[in-house]
Amino acid sequence: MSLAKRIYDLQQIELSIQEHVKQLEAMDLRIQHNVQFEQAEAALKTAENERAGIEKRYKELDAEAEALRSQITQIQDKLYGGKIKNPKELMGFEQEAAMLKATLDKKDDVLLDMMEKLETDRVALKKLQDVCSAAADAWKNEKAELHVKVKTFKNELNELEKKRVEMLASIDRDTLATYEAVKGRKGQAVVKVEQGRCLGCRVTLSVSEMQHARGNAIVTCGNCGRILYLS
Ligand SMILES: [Zn+2]
Repeated sequence: MSLAKRIYDLQQIELSIQEHVKQLEAMDLRIQHNVQFEQAEAALKTAENERAGIEKRYKELDAEAEALRSQITQIQDKLYGGKIKNPKELMGFEQEAAMLKATLDKKDDVLLDMMEKLETDRVALKKLQDVCSAAADAWKNEKAELHVKVKTFKNELNELEKKRVEMLASIDRDTLATYEAVKGRKGQAVVKVEQGRCLGCRVTLSVSEMQHARGNAIVTCGNCGRILYLS
């Protein structure tokens, strides 16, 4: 195997390692976070808090209404108990009872509205719970698939790392130094030659560059400086 071929293979392995690392990071992120589920959960929590607030207010109002009702009953007992004879006093109690009754009616109206709202919210809440649990299920399934995939990718990565170490041992120091230097400057260090052109910069190579590239030595493109690989 020519030196250029070996260095090209090394580059492909390194690219594959980079790609594996990138994919593993992306998969890890999808295992840690799920936007659909997080959004559904947040919406559900907001709705639940809102409902808890309305329920609390409903109970308070209901207790207030209950207190009013017993107050009214007490006054009515006085009114119809026959103990109070004074017409002025009776009239005072009648007025008080009417006032309390009006307040009670208002509270009952509000309570009725709240009950309707709670019923509508209950349906909406159920929908949000369904969406949330569907999102949780979908995420759970996705995670199960991802864990399998991560395992495969990690195994492949291990193999690639081993292969890279082997490749590094099979290439001389000077060539590796050239490779690292070009990689540092250009990113992709080794490029193929096709129809007499360097695929790194698309410039047509000279006859002598082509001749050298056919040999076993490392040849760099006179224009872009990348290592040439004639397959
Ligand atoms: Zn070039």
